Amino acid sequence: MLKMGELVLKGLNRQRFEQRLMSNLKRRISPFGNFNVYSMQSTIYAEPAEDADIESAFEAMRRVFGVAAVCRCAVAPKNMEAITASAIEYLRDDLSAAGTFKVEAKRSDKAFVFNSPQICAALGESILNAYSHLRVDVHAPQTTVVVEVRDMAAFVHAAPVPGAGGLPVGTGGRAVLLLSGGIDSPVAGYMMAKRGLEILPVHFFSYPYTGAEAKDKVLKLADIMSLYTGRAATVIVPFTEIQERIRKCCPEDMMTVITRRFMMRIAERIALDNGCGALITGESLGQVASQTMEAMAVTQAVCTLPVLRPLVGMDKEEVVAIARKIGTFDTSVLPYEDCCTLFTPKHPKTRPTLAQCLSAEEDLDIDGLVQNAVEGTASGA
Ligand code: ATP
Ligand code: MG
Repeated sequence: MLKMGELVLKGLNRQRFEQRLMSNLKRRISPFGNFNVYSMQSTIYAEPAEDADIESAFEAMRRVFGVAAVCRCAVAPKNMEAITASAIEYLRDDLSAAGTFKVEAKRSDKAFVFNSPQICAALGESILNAYSHLRVDVHAPQTTVVVEVRDMAAFVHAAPVPGAGGLPVGTGGRAVLLLSGGIDSPVAGYMMAKRGLEILPVHFFSYPYTGAEAKDKVLKLADIMSLYTGRAATVIVPFTEIQERIRKCCPEDMMTVITRRFMMRIAERIALDNGCGALITGESLGQVASQTMEAMAVTQAVCTLPVLRPLVGMDKEEVVAIARKIGTFDTSVLPYEDCCTLFTPKHPKTRPTLAQCLSAEEDLDIDGLVQNAVEGTASGA
C-alpha cells in the first residue's frame, strides 16, 4: 500500500499525477514479478502475484518519486477475529522483538461495526494475550500495529516506511542534465527528478584525453541515478575538437569559462531536439572559479532555456551526504579524471565579463564547432 505525498494537494491535475505515478511504479517493479497496481481512495495498491520478489520490489518502490510512504500489508476480511489473527501472525517478528507497542486504527469504511477506539482496545488486548512480554506505550512505542479498515478489506501493517517523496518523474516535463563524472551532477539530477522532471543525461567526452574508463564511469553513474530518475540513455558528445581549439585560441585564464559556454550551447541544442525545457548542472556557488556569480552569468548568457542548479546553495558536505544516500558517491570518487588537466588553467579568471568572453571567442568558429559536436553525438548505454 503506497501513500502519496504532495500529490494529494493537487487539484484538477491530480488524476494526471496519479496516472503517471502508477505507470512509473509499474515500470520500476516489473522486473520483480507480476503486480496488480491500482488506486482507490487516495491510495495506490500493488498486489504481488504468488511468486513475485516482494523484497526487491519493496526497495524499488521506495525510490519512486511521488511515494511518501510504503506499507507492507496483510489483507484480512473485515471482521475482528480475522483482523486479530492476521495481526498476531503477520507482525510476529516485530511484536516478538519489541518491548512496547501500540495499535492505531483507521476506519474509512464507516459501516464497519467497531469504531477506531474500539478496534484499538480489542486488538490491543488480544496482542497482549498472545505476547505476554509486551507492554502498551501509546507515546513512544517500539513497534506500531496499524489496522486500516477500507472498502474492500482490512489492511494490517507495521509503521509505514518512508518513500522517496517528491513528485512523479515526468509530471514536470523533461530536462537535460549535464552529467560529468564528479560527485555533484548525479546529485543534481536526482534532485530535479524528485521535483518531477524526466532527466536526459548529456556527457561531454574528450577522447583520448579522457579514456574509456571515464566514459564507463559516467554511464555507471547514470545507471545508479536511474534507480531514482528512471532510465534514459546518456547522450555522449564528442568534445575533443572544441577543447583543442579553445586551448589554441583562447587566453589561458578564460579557458574554463569558454569551455563551459560551449557545453551550454550544445546542451541547449540537444535539449530542444529532445523536447526538454531546461538545463540542469551540478554547480554550487563559489565552489570553484567557474562557479562564481559572474562566471555563471556569462555561461548561461549563451542560452535561453532556464538553467537549474539545485545545488547552488549547498555545502560540499551536504552534497556528499546525498551522493552516499543514493549510492553514486563511491563511483564518483573513482580516479578517472573528467576534463584532463591539460585543459585546466592554473589561474582561471573568477570574475569574467561578457566582453572578455566575446573577445576570447573571436577566433573560434562557434557555429561550426557546435554543429560538429551535435552531429557527432552518440547514445551511451
Ligand atoms: P561535478 O562534481 O558534477 O563534476 P564539479 O564541482 O566538478 O561538478 P565542474 O567540473 O566545474 O564542477 O562542472 C560544473 C558542472 O558542469 C557539473 O556539475 C556538470 O553539470 C557540468 N559538467 C562539467 N563537466 C562536464 C562533462 N564533461 N560533461 C557533462 N557535464 C559536465
Ligand atoms: Mg567536475
